[in-house]
Amino acid sequence: MLEEGSDAYKLQSGSRAFIPDLAARVAAEQDAALALVGVTPAVESIPHPGAVLPPPRTRLHVVDYARPPEQPELGPLSGVHLTPGDLGYPLSHDLARVLRQVQERGRQAVLVAPRRGYSALLRCPGCEHTPQCRNCDVPLRFHQETRQLTCHQCGYHEVIPDRCDKCGERMWKARGPGTEWIAQEVGKLLPGFPVYRLDKDRQDDLSALMNGESGVLVGTQLLLSHPAPPNLAVIGVTLADTWLNVSDFRASERYHRLLRQLAEWHPDRAPMLVVQTFQADHPALRVLGEGRDTLAYPAAEERVRAELFYPPHARLAQIEVTAREARKAQLAAQELADALHGAGASAQEVLGPAPSPVARVRGVYPYHLMLRARSDARLSQLLAVLDSRTWKARVRVDVNPRGGL
Ligand SMILES: [Zn+2]
Ligand SMILES: [Zn+2]
Repeated sequence: MLEEGSDAYKLQSGSRAFIPDLAARVAAEQDAALALVGVTPAVESIPHPGAVLPPPRTRLHVVDYARPPEQPELGPLSGVHLTPGDLGYPLSHDLARVLRQVQERGRQAVLVAPRRGYSALLRCPGCEHTPQCRNCDVPLRFHQETRQLTCHQCGYHEVIPDRCDKCGERMWKARGPGTEWIAQEVGKLLPGFPVYRLDKDRQDDLSALMNGESGVLVGTQLLLSHPAPPNLAVIGVTLADTWLNVSDFRASERYHRLLRQLAEWHPDRAPMLVVQTFQADHPALRVLGEGRDTLAYPAAEERVRAELFYPPHARLAQIEVTAREARKAQLAAQELADALHGAGASAQEVLGPAPSPVARVRGVYPYHLMLRARSDARLSQLLAVLDSRTWKARVRVDVNPRGGL
């Protein structure tokens, strides 16, 4: 099994099985060995015996947005006024400098942005209001090319409103640079230099790049499902924090895996990896700079998980209770929790119910319960309670849930 920690192994429809779980079960039934191979082990694989190869050479440059360097004293007549935070955004001055070198030397660069579209959202500079999806309680994402606001949850889209519907302001400010914005910034920085894009919305023809011609490729993590361009000299991660600012206990593991995959993306070259972040001291990043082996971060994370009673030290199942009325969903979720406690489940084993982080999705209100058991057998016992009667709302179970909303 390659990269057993990848979220791509979670089926998004049907059984929502996690493929590595199935592989382990098949291997056990067939009395066969299961080998897990990848750039870094999943935290959940740490208890298994394994071999660790020496880490690849990584050339890492971190742009620390939280700690801008002291500006030189320029004197009152110099006329230069640099603010302490002036490191350049969304492309830092450091990244801009190496991108110019890429152009001068006819090389290739890849920039990884955390999201597709132009920006995470539009915000009213007057009242801070952000246009929301009418079906889901999430902000709409801004796509400049189509001049539309789109919901990445349900697909709803609308044209950009003329004015803020809260205060009437006629201006919007974009926040959180996506691939479209980054590509535009590169275009401004390197006029005439080829810029390609690769994300769910747009897949440019990359044959010139793959033939070794110079250029910059801007994309989401989707890039990693393609081979690295042959003359790759620089890889930039434009805002690493987006991978960490997710309410999911696997967020930092996912971030660490992304960094390792980027560092090893090119089969025989170590391009300079430029990471722009407000969390330069995050251990998931630091281990790369320190040249630690690929076990260092997952093993430390596994010890934290043991203390918090999280996988691999627990088996999880998420129960989602949905209804068209929030009250109905909440009551049904509470009834379910009561039934579980009535059947002997401890407070450690049943977390919630709580409204989903996105209070309304596609017009329905989801409530979540999390089951946390010591073993598969105990998890099955708890899940059996759900089948013991019928419930007044729709109930869905996701064993070993992956990724947040
Ligand atoms: Zn406003
Ligand atoms: Zn929506």
